Amino acid sequence: MKEFDYVIIGGGCAGLSLAYELEIHNNLIDKKLAIIEPREDYKRDKSWSFWRVTSHNFNDCIKKSWKNFTINISNKTKHLECSKTPYQTIDSGLFYEKIMNRLKLNKNIFFFKNINEINTKNSILFNSVSKIADNDQKLWQHFYGIEIEADKNIFDDEIFNLMDFDCDQKNKVHFFYTLPFSKNQALVETTWISELNDKSIMNYEEQIKNYLKDHLKIKKYKINYSEKGAIPLFQLNNFKKLNQIDIGTVGGMTRLSTGYTFLNIQEQCKYIRENIQNIQKVKLFQINKKYKFFDEIFLKVLKKNPEKMPNIFYKMFESKTEAVINFLSNKSNLLEDLLIVNRMPKWIFIKALFN
Ligand SMILES: Cc1cc2nc3c(=O)[nH]c(=O)nc-3n(C[C@H](O)[C@H](O)[C@H](O)COP(=O)(O)OP(=O)(O)OC[C@H]3O[C@@H](n4cnc5c(N)ncnc54)[C@H](O)[C@@H]3O)c2cc1C
Repeated sequence: MKEFDYVIIGGGCAGLSLAYELEIHNNLIDKKLAIIEPREDYKRDKSWSFWRVTSHNFNDCIKKSWKNFTINISNKTKHLECSKTPYQTIDSGLFYEKIMNRLKLNKNIFFFKNINEINTKNSILFNSVSKIADNDQKLWQHFYGIEIEADKNIFDDEIFNLMDFDCDQKNKVHFFYTLPFSKNQALVETTWISELNDKSIMNYEEQIKNYLKDHLKIKKYKINYSEKGAIPLFQLNNFKKLNQIDIGTVGGMTRLSTGYTFLNIQEQCKYIRENIQNIQKVKLFQINKKYKFFDEIFLKVLKKNPEKMPNIFYKMFESKTEAVINFLSNKSNLLEDLLIVNRMPKWIFIKALFN
Protein backbone atom coordinates (compact mmCIF):
# COMPACT_ATOMS: atom_id res chain seq x y z
CA MET A 1 0.00 0.00 0.00
CA LYS A 2 1.12 3.52 -0.77
CA GLU A 3 2.49 5.73 2.00
CA PHE A 4 2.42 9.54 2.20
CA ASP A 5 3.99 12.27 4.32
CA TYR A 6 0.68 14.10 4.60
CA VAL A 7 -2.89 12.90 4.18
CA ILE A 8 -5.81 15.35 3.92
CA ILE A 9 -9.12 13.68 4.71
CA GLY A 10 -11.91 15.58 2.98
CA GLY A 11 -11.16 17.71 -0.07
CA GLY A 12 -13.69 20.43 0.71
CA CYS A 13 -13.04 24.01 1.76
CA ALA A 14 -10.46 23.30 4.48
CA GLY A 15 -8.78 20.31 2.83
CA LEU A 16 -8.29 22.04 -0.52
CA SER A 17 -7.33 25.37 1.09
CA LEU A 18 -4.60 23.58 3.03
CA ALA A 19 -3.34 21.64 0.02
CA TYR A 20 -3.24 24.89 -1.99
CA GLU A 21 -1.45 26.80 0.77
CA LEU A 22 1.20 24.07 1.05
CA GLU A 23 1.57 23.82 -2.72
CA ILE A 24 2.00 27.54 -3.46
CA HIS A 25 4.61 27.86 -0.72
CA ASN A 26 6.63 24.94 -2.15
CA ASN A 27 6.04 22.64 0.81
CA LEU A 28 5.17 19.74 -1.48
CA ILE A 29 8.31 19.65 -3.61
CA ASP A 30 9.84 16.76 -1.68
CA LYS A 31 6.80 15.55 0.30
CA LYS A 32 3.98 13.32 -0.81
CA LEU A 33 0.38 14.34 -0.16
CA ALA A 34 -2.77 12.21 -0.49
CA ILE A 35 -6.20 13.87 -0.59
CA ILE A 36 -9.15 11.64 0.29
CA GLU A 37 -12.40 12.89 -1.20
CA PRO A 38 -15.39 10.73 -2.19
CA ARG A 39 -17.14 13.20 -4.51
CA GLU A 40 -17.01 12.40 -8.21
CA ASP A 41 -16.67 15.96 -9.46
CA TYR A 42 -16.48 19.49 -8.15
CA LYS A 43 -19.18 21.97 -8.97
CA ARG A 44 -20.43 25.14 -7.33
CA ASP A 45 -22.21 24.11 -4.11
CA LYS A 46 -21.60 26.99 -1.71
CA SER A 47 -21.19 30.77 -1.63
CA TRP A 48 -18.69 31.71 1.05
CA SER A 49 -19.10 35.26 2.32
CA PHE A 50 -17.24 37.25 4.95
CA TRP A 51 -15.91 40.70 5.79
CA ARG A 52 -12.38 40.79 4.46
CA VAL A 53 -10.55 41.39 7.74
CA THR A 54 -7.46 39.46 6.56
CA SER A 55 -5.96 38.59 3.21
CA HIS A 56 -6.61 35.24 1.53
CA ASN A 57 -5.51 33.33 -1.57
CA PHE A 58 -8.78 33.58 -3.48
CA ASN A 59 -9.24 37.16 -4.68
CA ASP A 60 -9.76 35.83 -8.21
CA CYS A 61 -12.70 33.67 -7.04
CA ILE A 62 -14.68 36.62 -5.68
CA LYS A 63 -18.11 36.87 -7.23
CA LYS A 64 -18.85 40.29 -5.74
CA SER A 65 -17.68 42.70 -3.03
CA TRP A 66 -19.80 45.30 -1.21
CA LYS A 67 -18.98 48.36 0.87
CA ASN A 68 -22.49 48.92 2.20
CA PHE A 69 -25.12 46.79 3.85
CA THR A 70 -28.41 46.93 5.71
CA ILE A 71 -29.97 45.07 8.60
CA ASN A 72 -33.64 45.36 9.42
CA ILE A 73 -36.38 44.45 11.82
CA SER A 74 -40.02 45.30 11.15
CA ASN A 75 -40.37 49.03 10.42
CA LYS A 76 -36.70 49.81 11.02
CA THR A 77 -33.71 49.60 8.67
CA LYS A 78 -30.12 50.39 9.51
CA HIS A 79 -27.75 51.42 6.68
CA LEU A 80 -24.13 50.59 7.41
CA GLU A 81 -20.78 51.05 5.70
CA CYS A 82 -17.89 48.58 5.55
CA SER A 83 -15.44 50.13 3.06
CA LYS A 84 -12.38 49.27 5.21
CA THR A 85 -13.33 45.60 5.31
CA PRO A 86 -15.57 44.93 2.29
CA TYR A 87 -17.98 42.01 2.42
CA GLN A 88 -16.93 39.45 -0.19
CA THR A 89 -18.61 36.41 -1.69
CA ILE A 90 -16.49 33.59 -3.06
CA ASP A 91 -17.94 31.31 -5.72
CA SER A 92 -17.02 27.77 -4.62
CA GLY A 93 -17.08 26.62 -8.27
CA LEU A 94 -14.23 29.01 -9.13
CA PHE A 95 -12.43 28.09 -5.89
CA TYR A 96 -12.49 24.33 -6.63
CA GLU A 97 -11.43 24.89 -10.24
CA LYS A 98 -8.51 27.15 -9.34
CA ILE A 99 -7.19 24.78 -6.69
CA MET A 100 -7.64 21.55 -8.66
CA ASN A 101 -5.94 23.06 -11.72
CA ARG A 102 -2.92 23.93 -9.58
CA LEU A 103 -2.76 20.69 -7.57
CA LYS A 104 -2.93 18.49 -10.67
CA LEU A 105 0.39 19.94 -11.83
CA ASN A 106 2.28 18.48 -8.87
CA LYS A 107 3.16 14.79 -9.27
CA ASN A 108 3.57 14.45 -5.49
CA ILE A 109 -0.16 15.02 -4.94
CA PHE A 110 -2.46 11.98 -5.21
CA PHE A 111 -6.24 11.73 -5.01
CA PHE A 112 -8.20 8.81 -3.51
CA LYS A 113 -11.88 8.22 -2.88
CA ASN A 114 -11.45 6.19 0.30
CA ILE A 115 -8.89 6.24 3.10
CA ASN A 116 -8.74 2.43 3.06
CA GLU A 117 -6.86 2.65 -0.23
CA ILE A 118 -3.72 3.92 1.53
CA ASN A 119 -1.53 3.22 4.53
CA THR A 120 -1.69 6.14 6.97
CA LYS A 121 0.38 4.71 9.80
CA ASN A 122 3.40 6.94 9.21
CA SER A 123 1.58 9.99 7.84
CA ILE A 124 0.44 13.23 9.41
CA LEU A 125 -3.34 13.35 8.93
CA PHE A 126 -5.27 16.59 8.43
CA ASN A 127 -8.88 15.67 8.92
CA SER A 128 -11.99 17.67 7.97
CA VAL A 129 -14.55 14.87 8.37
CA SER A 130 -16.64 14.37 11.50
CA LYS A 131 -17.36 10.82 12.55
CA ILE A 132 -19.61 11.22 15.54
CA ALA A 133 -23.27 12.19 15.24
CA ASP A 134 -24.01 13.54 18.71
CA ASN A 135 -26.31 16.42 17.81
CA ASP A 136 -29.14 16.10 20.25
CA GLN A 137 -30.64 19.47 21.25
CA LYS A 138 -27.82 21.38 19.65
CA LEU A 139 -28.31 24.52 17.61
CA TRP A 140 -27.75 24.67 13.87
CA GLN A 141 -27.80 27.52 11.41
CA HIS A 142 -29.74 25.99 8.53
CA PHE A 143 -30.61 27.68 5.30
CA TYR A 144 -31.61 27.42 1.70
CA GLY A 145 -30.83 29.97 -0.97
CA ILE A 146 -31.54 30.53 -4.63
CA GLU A 147 -29.74 32.71 -7.11
CA ILE A 148 -32.40 34.38 -9.16
CA GLU A 149 -32.34 36.33 -12.39
CA ALA A 150 -35.27 38.73 -12.54
CA ASP A 151 -36.76 40.02 -15.78
CA LYS A 152 -36.23 43.63 -14.64
CA ASN A 153 -33.50 45.59 -12.85
CA ILE A 154 -34.77 45.67 -9.31
CA PHE A 155 -31.72 45.40 -7.03
CA ASP A 156 -29.31 48.06 -5.84
CA ASP A 157 -26.17 45.98 -6.32
CA GLU A 158 -24.06 48.38 -4.25
CA ILE A 159 -25.69 47.30 -1.00
CA PHE A 160 -26.47 43.86 0.42
CA ASN A 161 -28.94 42.92 3.13
CA LEU A 162 -27.26 41.00 5.95
CA MET A 163 -30.37 40.19 7.95
CA ASP A 164 -34.01 40.92 7.33
CA PHE A 165 -35.88 39.89 10.46
CA ASP A 166 -39.18 41.23 9.19
CA CYS A 167 -40.61 37.73 8.83
CA ASP A 168 -42.33 34.99 10.80
CA GLN A 169 -39.97 33.76 13.55
CA LYS A 170 -42.06 30.76 14.70
CA ASN A 171 -40.41 30.95 18.11
CA LYS A 172 -36.99 30.36 16.50
CA VAL A 173 -34.55 32.82 14.97
CA HIS A 174 -35.31 33.49 11.32
CA PHE A 175 -34.10 36.00 8.78
CA PHE A 176 -33.66 36.49 5.04
CA TYR A 177 -30.29 37.36 3.50
CA THR A 178 -29.92 38.98 0.08
CA LEU A 179 -26.71 39.34 -1.90
CA PRO A 180 -27.35 41.32 -5.11
CA PHE A 181 -24.68 40.32 -7.64
CA SER A 182 -26.06 42.67 -10.29
CA LYS A 183 -29.16 44.82 -10.79
CA ASN A 184 -31.24 41.77 -11.75
CA GLN A 185 -29.37 38.86 -10.11
CA ALA A 186 -29.17 38.00 -6.43
CA LEU A 187 -28.72 35.16 -3.99
CA VAL A 188 -31.69 35.18 -1.62
CA GLU A 189 -31.54 32.90 1.40
CA THR A 190 -33.91 31.96 4.17
CA THR A 191 -31.92 31.25 7.34
CA TRP A 192 -33.03 29.67 10.62
CA ILE A 193 -31.28 29.00 13.89
CA SER A 194 -32.92 26.01 15.52
CA GLU A 195 -32.37 22.51 16.84
CA LEU A 196 -33.37 21.12 13.44
CA ASN A 197 -36.29 19.29 15.02
CA ASP A 198 -39.23 21.21 13.55
CA LYS A 199 -40.05 20.06 10.04
CA SER A 200 -42.69 22.79 9.64
CA ILE A 201 -40.00 25.44 9.15
CA MET A 202 -38.24 23.51 6.41
CA ASN A 203 -40.52 24.52 3.55
CA TYR A 204 -37.67 26.77 2.47
CA GLU A 205 -38.66 27.07 -1.18
CA GLU A 206 -42.10 28.35 -0.30
CA GLN A 207 -40.62 30.84 2.20
CA ILE A 208 -38.36 32.31 -0.47
CA LYS A 209 -41.10 32.36 -3.08
CA ASN A 210 -43.34 34.34 -0.73
CA TYR A 211 -40.52 36.64 0.32
CA LEU A 212 -39.70 37.47 -3.29
CA LYS A 213 -43.33 38.16 -4.04
CA ASP A 214 -44.39 40.02 -0.88
CA HIS A 215 -41.21 41.78 0.30
CA LEU A 216 -39.02 42.26 -2.73
CA LYS A 217 -42.03 42.58 -5.09
CA ILE A 218 -40.39 40.33 -7.68
CA LYS A 219 -42.83 38.41 -9.81
CA LYS A 220 -40.92 37.10 -12.80
CA TYR A 221 -37.57 35.41 -12.36
CA LYS A 222 -35.65 32.27 -13.17
CA ILE A 223 -33.53 30.26 -10.76
CA ASN A 224 -29.91 29.80 -11.90
CA TYR A 225 -28.49 28.07 -8.82
CA SER A 226 -29.50 26.88 -5.36
CA GLU A 227 -27.66 25.91 -2.18
CA LYS A 228 -28.68 24.33 1.07
CA GLY A 229 -26.74 23.87 4.26
CA ALA A 230 -26.71 23.36 7.99
CA ILE A 231 -23.78 24.72 9.97
CA PRO A 232 -23.34 23.24 13.46
CA LEU A 233 -23.29 25.98 16.12
CA PHE A 234 -21.47 23.64 18.48
CA GLN A 235 -18.12 21.93 18.45
CA LEU A 236 -18.27 18.66 16.51
CA ASN A 237 -16.73 15.75 18.35
CA ASN A 238 -14.24 13.41 16.82
CA PHE A 239 -12.22 10.32 17.62
CA LYS A 240 -8.79 11.72 18.40
CA LYS A 241 -5.82 10.00 16.83
CA LEU A 242 -2.24 10.75 17.77
CA ASN A 243 -1.10 11.59 14.25
CA GLN A 244 -4.26 13.56 13.36
CA ILE A 245 -4.95 17.30 13.32
CA ASP A 246 -8.54 18.38 12.72
CA ILE A 247 -9.13 21.23 10.30
CA GLY A 248 -12.10 23.27 9.06
CA THR A 249 -15.47 22.98 10.76
CA VAL A 250 -14.40 19.82 12.58
CA GLY A 251 -11.24 21.62 13.66
CA GLY A 252 -13.24 24.33 15.48
CA MET A 253 -13.03 26.99 12.76
CA THR A 254 -16.72 27.95 12.86
CA ARG A 255 -17.59 31.04 14.84
CA LEU A 256 -20.44 29.53 16.83
CA SER A 257 -22.58 32.66 17.13
CA THR A 258 -22.56 33.40 13.40
CA GLY A 259 -21.54 30.33 11.38
CA TYR A 260 -18.71 32.28 9.71
CA THR A 261 -15.93 29.79 8.98
CA PHE A 262 -14.24 30.53 5.64
CA LEU A 263 -11.66 33.12 6.73
CA ASN A 264 -10.88 31.20 9.92
CA ILE A 265 -10.08 28.19 7.75
CA GLN A 266 -7.70 30.34 5.69
CA GLU A 267 -5.91 31.51 8.85
CA GLN A 268 -5.70 27.94 10.16
CA CYS A 269 -4.17 26.77 6.86
CA LYS A 270 -1.61 29.58 6.95
CA TYR A 271 -0.65 28.64 10.52
CA ILE A 272 -0.26 24.95 9.59
CA ARG A 273 1.86 25.83 6.58
CA GLU A 274 4.11 28.15 8.63
CA ASN A 275 4.63 25.41 11.22
CA ILE A 276 4.55 22.37 8.97
CA GLN A 277 8.03 21.15 9.93
CA ASN A 278 6.99 21.04 13.56
CA ILE A 279 3.25 20.66 13.28
CA GLN A 280 2.85 17.79 15.75
CA LYS A 281 4.68 19.71 18.47
CA VAL A 282 3.27 23.25 18.18
CA LYS A 283 -0.02 24.15 19.82
CA LEU A 284 -3.19 23.80 17.75
CA PHE A 285 -4.54 26.83 15.93
CA GLN A 286 -7.72 28.03 17.63
CA ILE A 287 -10.21 30.87 17.47
CA ASN A 288 -9.35 33.15 20.40
CA LYS A 289 -10.89 31.73 23.58
CA LYS A 290 -12.67 34.99 24.45
CA TYR A 291 -14.97 34.46 21.44
CA LYS A 292 -15.80 30.95 22.63
CA PHE A 293 -16.82 32.46 25.94
CA PHE A 294 -18.92 35.22 24.32
CA ASP A 295 -20.53 32.81 21.84
CA GLU A 296 -21.45 30.29 24.51
CA ILE A 297 -23.36 32.94 26.46
CA PHE A 298 -24.85 34.40 23.28
CA LEU A 299 -26.20 31.00 22.20
CA LYS A 300 -27.63 30.34 25.67
CA VAL A 301 -29.50 33.64 25.42
CA LEU A 302 -30.63 32.78 21.90
CA LYS A 303 -31.90 29.35 22.94
CA LYS A 304 -33.91 30.75 25.85
CA ASN A 305 -35.12 33.97 24.24
CA PRO A 306 -35.38 33.47 20.46
CA GLU A 307 -38.08 36.17 20.25
CA LYS A 308 -35.59 38.78 21.56
CA MET A 309 -32.89 38.03 18.99
CA PRO A 310 -33.99 40.32 16.11
CA ASN A 311 -33.73 43.29 18.49
CA ILE A 312 -30.48 42.06 19.98
CA PHE A 313 -28.83 41.71 16.55
CA TYR A 314 -30.24 45.10 15.52
CA LYS A 315 -28.98 46.78 18.68
CA MET A 316 -25.55 45.21 18.26
CA PHE A 317 -25.22 47.18 15.02
CA GLU A 318 -25.89 50.41 16.91
CA SER A 319 -22.25 50.22 18.01
CA LYS A 320 -19.53 51.49 15.71
CA THR A 321 -19.86 49.30 12.56
CA GLU A 322 -16.12 48.64 12.46
CA ALA A 323 -16.24 47.32 16.03
CA VAL A 324 -19.15 44.97 15.24
CA ILE A 325 -17.45 43.63 12.12
CA ASN A 326 -14.20 43.08 14.01
CA PHE A 327 -16.11 41.38 16.82
CA LEU A 328 -18.00 39.06 14.45
CA SER A 329 -14.76 38.31 12.59
CA ASN A 330 -12.67 37.57 15.72
CA LYS A 331 -10.50 40.66 15.29
CA SER A 332 -11.84 42.97 17.99
CA ASN A 333 -9.77 44.65 20.68
CA LEU A 334 -10.90 45.03 24.30
CA LEU A 335 -12.45 48.43 23.72
CA GLU A 336 -14.48 47.08 20.78
CA ASP A 337 -15.58 44.07 22.88
CA LEU A 338 -16.82 46.45 25.56
CA LEU A 339 -18.71 48.53 22.99
CA ILE A 340 -20.56 45.39 21.85
CA VAL A 341 -21.22 44.05 25.34
CA ASN A 342 -22.58 47.46 26.27
CA ARG A 343 -25.26 47.20 23.57
CA MET A 344 -26.55 43.88 24.92
CA PRO A 345 -29.50 43.65 27.33
CA LYS A 346 -27.55 43.13 30.56
CA TRP A 347 -29.98 41.15 32.65
CA ILE A 348 -30.64 38.23 30.29
CA PHE A 349 -26.94 37.91 29.52
CA ILE A 350 -26.06 37.91 33.22
CA LYS A 351 -28.72 35.25 33.84
CA ALA A 352 -27.32 33.14 30.98
CA LEU A 353 -23.84 33.45 32.49
CA PHE A 354 -24.96 31.72 35.66
CA ASN A 355 -27.25 29.10 34.10
C1 LIG B 1 -24.14 25.88 1.81
C2 LIG B 1 -23.15 26.47 2.79
C3 LIG B 1 -22.85 27.83 2.74
C4 LIG B 1 -21.91 28.37 3.63
N1 LIG B 1 -21.65 29.71 3.58
C5 LIG B 1 -20.70 30.21 4.39
C6 LIG B 1 -20.37 31.60 4.30
O1 LIG B 1 -21.02 32.36 3.57
N2 LIG B 1 -19.36 32.07 5.06
C7 LIG B 1 -18.65 31.26 5.90
O2 LIG B 1 -17.70 31.74 6.54
N3 LIG B 1 -18.99 29.97 6.05
C8 LIG B 1 -19.99 29.42 5.31
N4 LIG B 1 -20.30 28.10 5.43
C9 LIG B 1 -19.64 27.33 6.50
C10 LIG B 1 -18.27 26.74 6.09
O3 LIG B 1 -17.46 27.76 5.55
C11 LIG B 1 -18.40 25.63 5.07
O4 LIG B 1 -19.19 24.61 5.57
C12 LIG B 1 -17.05 25.06 4.65
O5 LIG B 1 -17.28 24.31 3.49
C13 LIG B 1 -16.42 24.20 5.74
O6 LIG B 1 -15.27 23.61 5.24
P1 LIG B 1 -14.83 22.14 5.67
O7 LIG B 1 -13.66 21.81 4.85
O8 LIG B 1 -14.74 22.05 7.14
O9 LIG B 1 -16.05 21.20 5.24
P2 LIG B 1 -16.48 20.83 3.75
O10 LIG B 1 -16.22 21.95 2.84
O11 LIG B 1 -17.85 20.30 3.85
O12 LIG B 1 -15.48 19.65 3.37
C14 LIG B 1 -15.56 18.34 3.88
C15 LIG B 1 -15.25 17.39 2.73
O13 LIG B 1 -15.17 16.07 3.24
C16 LIG B 1 -15.71 15.20 2.26
N5 LIG B 1 -16.06 13.94 2.92
C17 LIG B 1 -17.23 13.57 3.48
N6 LIG B 1 -17.13 12.32 4.00
C18 LIG B 1 -15.86 11.89 3.76
C19 LIG B 1 -15.14 10.71 4.07
N7 LIG B 1 -15.71 9.71 4.75
N8 LIG B 1 -13.84 10.63 3.69
C20 LIG B 1 -13.26 11.65 3.05
N9 LIG B 1 -13.91 12.80 2.71
C21 LIG B 1 -15.18 12.93 3.08
C22 LIG B 1 -16.90 15.98 1.70
O14 LIG B 1 -17.29 15.48 0.43
C23 LIG B 1 -16.33 17.40 1.65
O15 LIG B 1 -15.73 17.67 0.40
C24 LIG B 1 -21.27 27.53 4.59
C25 LIG B 1 -21.62 26.19 4.67
C26 LIG B 1 -22.55 25.66 3.79
C27 LIG B 1 -22.92 24.19 3.93
